Amino acid sequence: QEKDKYSGVVEDCCCDYETVNQLNEQVLHPSLQELVKTPFFRYFKVKLWCDCPFWPDDGMCRLRDCSVCECPETEFPESFKKPFIRGLSSDDLACQEGKPEAAVDRTLDSQAFRGWTETDNPWTHDDETDNAEMTYVNLQLNPERYTGYTGPSARRIWDAIYSENCPTYPSKQLCQEERILYKLISGLHSSISIHIAADYLLDEANNLWGQNLTLMYDRVLRYPDRVRNLYFTFLFVLRAVTKAAEYLEQAEYETGNPMEDLKTQSLMKQLLYNPQLQAACPLPFDEAKLWKGQRGPELKQKIQGQFRNISALMDCVGCEKCRLWGKLQVLGLGTALKILFSVNGEEHLSQTVSITSNGRFETSHSNFLFYL
Ligand code: FAD
Repeated sequence: QEKDKYSGVVEDCCCDYETVNQLNEQVLHPSLQELVKTPFFRYFKVKLWCDCPFWPDDGMCRLRDCSVCECPETEFPESFKKPFIRGLSSDDLACQEGKPEAAVDRTLDSQAFRGWTETDNPWTHDDETDNAEMTYVNLQLNPERYTGYTGPSARRIWDAIYSENCPTYPSKQLCQEERILYKLISGLHSSISIHIAADYLLDEANNLWGQNLTLMYDRVLRYPDRVRNLYFTFLFVLRAVTKAAEYLEQAEYETGNPMEDLKTQSLMKQLLYNPQLQAACPLPFDEAKLWKGQRGPELKQKIQGQFRNISALMDCVGCEKCRLWGKLQVLGLGTALKILFSVNGEEHLSQTVSITSNGRFETSHSNFLFYL
């Protein structure tokens, strides 16, 4: 019965569930596990300390370090003294950041990492212009896992994402493009929940981590839609990777460590031109059939604005490690959206997705691989 729920072609895509499982097990997962360890992919340049553009008064961003918990009361910002800030108690907010498992480890390897440049992406909210405020985070030291971020603060973000930016589903009135935005977000949500369940703090007193299968079932597996949306998102991103293959093959993965960088390039080629991938799922998603008809351009602008809002909402996530992974994954999806919907043809890719003047790869290019 479980098998029947996930057989046939993934809705709105061009490959079936079994093929995706096989490809993932035999080709994609092993290659990506190697790639994410390379210096080029293990560092993420990010501005973690940002103003939340939607709830400016709630003090969310003043929670950068939880030293606020330790200050004498006279030093607290006014907003922390109020018992409720737009429905959230200051305890809700302050303690999210206070959990050690939610904090980002900023220790970097001794290997210096030279800066990448950013280019505009119409699908994402770009507040990352000031290099001085950006840090490199070693993702290997900061795996996506349970952090204890929960309650009204987390719920408010998901509610805003679903109700303000992403129309209710299922609805007969939704056109395919709107449905796709919903499915990408729901797939992202499933992925976050699965990461929480796969690496969970089982026993706080003994710092024991492991799988929480009940949580995985309760949040994702018992809802076939959420599983299907995860598959959809996977294939959507995979299509962006295959569309950008030529570009990804030629890009310079330069981090100042020639041996490691050569390895990155060779792993990338193995992934992009894997014969099994090309034979089993040559076109994971067909972007060419979207944005047709008279309403196309207007619809694209609307959905682009909605996704930009979702990306801006990541600055309001009140837990540092969740913000890190939220930003990375939304930037990754935004890059996939750009490759599939804002770039015409292969020859355009090198200009608009942009190899920078010094030949360096833009940060967001690499992030979308993390989504797989
Ligand atoms: P939530 O996951 O908060 O879900 C809220 C509601 O959304 C559900 O009741 C359901 O109606 C709906 N919903 C749930 N899943 C789906 C889906 N796949 N598709 C459609 N609708 C759905 N916590 C961590 O421990 N570690 C993290 O790294 C982390 N990262 C986060 C990143 C972001 C951007 C956000 C917003 C939150 C993050 N969280 C993280 C918090 C986590 O996602 C949950 O909000 C929290 O664990 C509380 O879960 P919950 O059971 O209340 O349901």
